[in-house]
Order: sequence, then structure tokens, then C-alpha cells
Amino acid sequence: MSSESVYPATLYVVATPIGNLADLTYRAATVLQNVQLILAEDTRVSAVLLRHYAISTPVSALHQHNEARRSASVIEQLAQGQSIALISDAGTPGISDPGARLVREVRAAGHAVVPVPGASALSAALSVAGIEGPLLFLGFLSTRSSARRQALSAAALAHWPVVLYEAPHRLLELADDLLGVFDPASQVLLARELTKRFESIERMALATLPDWLRADPNHSRGEFVLVIEPATAQDPIDTARAAALQTLEILLEDLPLAQAVRLAQRITGLRRNDLYQHALQFKPEEDDSK
Ligand code: SAM
Repeated sequence: MSSESVYPATLYVVATPIGNLADLTYRAATVLQNVQLILAEDTRVSAVLLRHYAISTPVSALHQHNEARRSASVIEQLAQGQSIALISDAGTPGISDPGARLVREVRAAGHAVVPVPGASALSAALSVAGIEGPLLFLGFLSTRSSARRQALSAAALAHWPVVLYEAPHRLLELADDLLGVFDPASQVLLARELTKRFESIERMALATLPDWLRADPNHSRGEFVLVIEPATAQDPIDTARAAALQTLEILLEDLPLAQAVRLAQRITGLRRNDLYQHALQFKPEEDDSK
């Protein structure tokens, strides 16, 4: 590994393993060895990885509590020509982990920010989920039940698969919230302890998830990614159009056709003619084209 393998005045955002230490990429090891400083979420956690790869670069803490304060001094060090790497406890920094703020501020200060891709619980779970097309990654939901349900309800409207991170002690509560929002026939993929000794990947109907979790305490032990696949594939554009037309129908109950159409257009953004044609089914006597 030569020091030419890193550029000066550059922040490297480096993915580290999500469990299996062998998942550090060769490039990541080279960068971590050759930068002047590693910023780590928890220096004790990262010490295990760095020791394993005999990486002796100085390490300093950058976590959610000091990220705002720390950014200015990191930018100063970059301005002096240093190369710096950012790592989190596991996986890719910035994905439900600290890093986004630092990345924004370093880029705004005019320095290069370079990704060194590798492990992430998100991509690992998706790679075995067998789903195609668009999806929604929500990361961790709020710990408040009402906010959690609200976020899930908004996501469910899209009818796209939803990917979540969740801590083991909140899994059962999350399962109940999911059942309150999604069709019980939806499929859930539980990707647990990926790349680790007790890795397991289970797929089941959402309706059975609470009982399955209760059946064995081991079922909710460890780290989890959940992928919820809606029971019926529905185009979100069709869903949005149906909701817009429903708004129009409600307005038509109390307002003349022209006014209802005008308001529905402002509320929903649907084309005027589209709304007008739909409204005529309910109030043909107000057709002004005759
Ligand atoms: N930045 C990380 C990444 O790219 O994967 C995610 C960090 S987030 C703080 C930690 C969450 O990621 C865990 O609560 C869990 O939901 C998920 N996770 C991390 N490692 C995992 C693993 N080995 N198996 C399953 N999920 C994991």
C-alpha cells in the first residue's frame, strides 16, 4: 500500500463491514492505511477492525453529538492538504449513520468528497430480497408510535416495497404498527444478523409476524433489516389519480361543477380537462360546452 493511493485535501467516506470483518474491501483498507486521520463514530468499535487489518492511522471521534462542532476543524485540516477518512461503527456512513452534515459542509468548503463503497445492511438485505423496481428506504422510524404510523401510512400510499431498519427491542411494536397500515397478506422479509454467525433470512406474511416473533425470543435477537412488499402491486400514479378524483367528488357534493373543478385542480395538480370530464359524470346538467 503506497501513500500515493490517496489524494491530498480529500475526505474519503469509507464503508466498513456490517459484521464479518472479511468484508472490508481492499481499497478501503488501502485508504484507511494511507490517510492522515480516520474519523470514527465510536473509536473503541473501530479499533477492532483497524487492529484486525494492522492499520495504525490516528483515529478521532466524529459522532452525532459532535458532528456540527467537529466539521470546522476537519475542514481546516483538509485545507492544510490532509487526507481524511470517515467511517461509522458498521456499514456505510451517512446511511442512518452520522456523516451527512460533514459531507455537505466539506463539499461546500470546496474540498473533494470521495466514496469508498462496500458493505451496507441496506444493499445486503436488498440483494437477497428478490424485488424489482422502485422502493422506499425509510431507515429508522421515529420511536413515537403516532409519528411511526404516520410515516408508514404515507409510505403505504405508494404501494412500493418499504425497507426499514429497526432495533430488536422495538420489533414487536413495529410489527403491530405495520399491521395497522399494510394489508396483512403483504410479505415481510426479515434479514437478521447479516454476514454474522447467526445470520437468518425469513420471509412470511405480515399477519404472522407478531406470533412468529413471540414464539421464540431468538427470533427478535440481533440486528434487522425489514423489507415489506405490498400484497397487491399498484402503480402509485394510478393511486394518486384515484385520490385526486375522490377529492373532486367530495367537492362536487357541495359546490357547482366549475368551482369544484377549479378547486380540485389547485389541490391535486391534475389537468383541468381530466377533472372536468370526470365531474360531468356526476353533474351532466352543468356541461358548459353545450
Ligand atoms: N450505515 C449502516 C449501513 O450502511 O448498513 C447502518 C447503520 S444503522 C445505525 C444500524 C442498523 O442497520 C441496525 O439497527 C440494523 O437495522 C441495520 N444493520 C446493521 N448491521 C446489520 C446486520 N449485520 N444485519 C442486519 N441488519 C443490520
